Amino acid sequence: MINIDGARGEGGGQMLRTSLSLAASLGKPLRIKNIRQGRKKPGLMRQHLASVKAMAEICDAQVNGAFVGSQEIKFIPGNIKAGDYHFAIGTAGSSTLVFQTVLPALLLTGKPSRLILEGGTHNPMAPSFDFIQHSFLPVLEQMGAKFNAKIDRYGFYPAGGGKWTITINPPQNFQKVILENQGILLNSQAKCMASRIPGHVLIREKKQLLKRLNWPEESITLETVESPGPGNIISLQVRYSDITEVVESIGERGISAEQVADKAADELINYQSLGAPVGCYLADQLLLPLSLGAGGSFVTGPLSEHSRTNIAVIRQFMNVEINVVEIDPGRQSRVEVSV
Ligand code: ATP
Repeated sequence: MINIDGARGEGGGQMLRTSLSLAASLGKPLRIKNIRQGRKKPGLMRQHLASVKAMAEICDAQVNGAFVGSQEIKFIPGNIKAGDYHFAIGTAGSSTLVFQTVLPALLLTGKPSRLILEGGTHNPMAPSFDFIQHSFLPVLEQMGAKFNAKIDRYGFYPAGGGKWTITINPPQNFQKVILENQGILLNSQAKCMASRIPGHVLIREKKQLLKRLNWPEESITLETVESPGPGNIISLQVRYSDITEVVESIGERGISAEQVADKAADELINYQSLGAPVGCYLADQLLLPLSLGAGGSFVTGPLSEHSRTNIAVIRQFMNVEINVVEIDPGRQSRVEVSV
């Protein structure tokens, strides 16, 4: 039994998801206590519970403590089954985080799966569908996997109601991933998207992005999307020869369109000035697939607390060597994963 203390390190939902993925993938029973102790309202929220249930369904696990508010669960995994699954969160909770929880185990089956996911698709503090499609999945394709993802309906906080589908074709043999440089900048584009909010918001966001980024006007598109509730997001995508980064900013009540655009622009300018291919969010999300695959190395910015915590959890489960070398202190580090 692997015992994880959810109060350590970053202390959020990611520790739970990483632990569930590892328990299922490696067939190791797990007890996790003090779940989300670092958060204002500790314990499982609906979206975390959705990850527990999804992971349990895929590997036929026996689970104790799976209820909203629970601060401890016991998870005894069985065999992982590839196949067709439908996971609905029931709230606007992030469906992409549920996807990332179950993906590693499904990749290890060697057989194709197809998932339908319902819930939030573009949430604050989580990878958006666009980030998954354009930034995260292409790196996993370098490991040898193949994906086909399609969004049917956008889901924004608080109404949710998003829906997307993905087919997963695991590799027969995992390849190493090496990401040293961004490479040559091939394309920059921005999408300002909204559902059920006044049209002037998108126009003002575009105007502010043009001011901040100096991009040609045609690289910024405005899109009205279908969703059960109101929502607004700016998604900036920079495609380099070696990596694609997606930076996002979500509109909220009380925050002006210009501030939403500034947040996205600031984050992108920071990413481009650091010069590291793997952004800080992608970094914490790659650690698990690389550790369960054939390893590799990547250059990123200063390591986030999320990444440090993920490394600590992975080390508790498996014998993998993860070294972090500061190559340009405060600006760039290299993460090396040797399996
Ligand atoms: P809580 O913090 O309430 O426990 P949680 O379970 O949603 O909630 P975290 O433990 O904070 O979350 O994990 C959030 C995950 O979402 C991390 O993997 C992080 O890299 C990712 N993420 C957050 N913001 C972005 C973003 N803008 N783009 C891509 N990924 C993001």
